[in-house]
Amino acid sequence: MKKTLLKNLIVINPCSKPALVENACVSICGDTIESVGSKMPSGEFDVVHDLHGKIALPGMINAHHHLYSALAVGMPLPKKTPTNFSEILQEVWWKMDLALDHDSTQASFEAGLLDSLKAGTTTIIDHHCSPSYIEGSLSLLAETGEKLGLNTSVAFEISDRNGQEIFEASLQENLDAVRKFSDTPNVHPMIGLHASFTLSDNSLKKIRESVSSLNSWGIHIHVSEDKADEVDAVNKGFGSVLERLQVFDLINENGLIIHGLHIKETDVELLQKHKAQLVHNPSSNANNRVGMAPNQNFHQLKTGLGTDGMQGNMLREGKEGMLIRSSHLVGGADSVDYMQLLFENNASLASRLFGRKIGRILPGYQADLAIFDYLPRTPITESTIFGHVFFGISDSPSDVITRGEFRIKENQLLNVSEQEIKSNAVAQAKRLWSNFI
Ligand SMILES: [Zn+2]
Repeated sequence: MKKTLLKNLIVINPCSKPALVENACVSICGDTIESVGSKMPSGEFDVVHDLHGKIALPGMINAHHHLYSALAVGMPLPKKTPTNFSEILQEVWWKMDLALDHDSTQASFEAGLLDSLKAGTTTIIDHHCSPSYIEGSLSLLAETGEKLGLNTSVAFEISDRNGQEIFEASLQENLDAVRKFSDTPNVHPMIGLHASFTLSDNSLKKIRESVSSLNSWGIHIHVSEDKADEVDAVNKGFGSVLERLQVFDLINENGLIIHGLHIKETDVELLQKHKAQLVHNPSSNANNRVGMAPNQNFHQLKTGLGTDGMQGNMLREGKEGMLIRSSHLVGGADSVDYMQLLFENNASLASRLFGRKIGRILPGYQADLAIFDYLPRTPITESTIFGHVFFGISDSPSDVITRGEFRIKENQLLNVSEQEIKSNAVAQAKRLWSNFI
């Protein structure tokens, strides 16, 4: 196996021990980190890279993304201005996702994954929706992730909102992906459900029956993003959205519960009991004006951090999350440790899903690193890491390594052409927009 040595790095490993290694050498065997330390490791290396004192952070993890929305940047506003969450879905997202075909979906995947890679986000847990192009869409995503060297979790949002035929095809696409990718190391297939309020009892029953033939499965679903989801569950005769999912036996330790803004205390206990993972998406929640989950839920549930399609940059999402929350708090009040969400909870979450160690620069972890050309203006010590991570380090890493290989080296993208991906995305965005606006 190829042996690679990275030398002359400052390794910052937030929420790990040690959290800081100066003059660090990182030795990599194949796609896995072998050692991290300030002493030169013994043995022969096939390649040695001198990083000249740059700062390395673990390749970051986006615990909830919608790559299909990559072409929505700058999209014209809907004719009818949405006045609440349900109208935002109906007037914007459900019109856009229905207009996606193979070519525009592919362009979304390429452009969205490229932006993630360029921001040092090397694992993307995606929740996909393109109801007019279903069959093969999850394979296309997995292949595009592979081309860029990223870890991808794939899931197709099942919903009743486009009729029975699309419901069936979406369910089938998830089942096919689970069967196809369960043993693929850098792809993690999940069963995507849009949300409780767009699925009937009959549909939930059908989904549960279909997954029982699989060896292992976990759902990836929006829960209680807006109060309307909880109202719908109560109207259908359940205590809450999570209680409804529990009745249909859909919650387990492999599941991802996205948002959970309005869940009750008993729902928190329910998630703890089933060991399902909650994921928080602060910039999207602020953008949709759906409210803010209480701090204590995040402390109790070891919540992950995602962007819900808003961006590919996790350092920015963490900082925005912190600032949004602060703007709602009074002086001295407790907040949420976004560094813990990003570097500790996301690392555990991704390691559990992918079945291998991901998200830290430590021996035995997959060699995914975001390396920044950053000259600090204040001392970097274990106790000052937080400030440097969220207020110092620039947005874009100069170098990104995944699975032990450089994907970006000294600001140059290797293997793929950004020019080609972006110009195709612009052409596809024009075509996509003209199809539904
Ligand atoms: Zn979402």
